[in-house]
Amino acid sequence: MSDLRITSECPKCGEERVQVGYEQSELIQLLRTGAMIDAYCMACDEHWELSVEERADIARLLNK
Ligand SMILES: [Zn+2]
Repeated sequence: MSDLRITSECPKCGEERVQVGYEQSELIQLLRTGAMIDAYCMACDEHWELSVEERADIARLLNK
């Protein structure tokens, strides 16, 4: 099972941050159940929830 490279924009600094540590199977499960997907910016030490648009992007990647 390969890791999927997902990114999310940090609400604090506005930079696209790569989110590591999510496996593909885990993301599929989170999307299916509607559970929140947590994102993190190391520079700001900020946590946030992925937006609906970003979730849709991930779903598209997973359906490839
Ligand atoms: Zn940031």
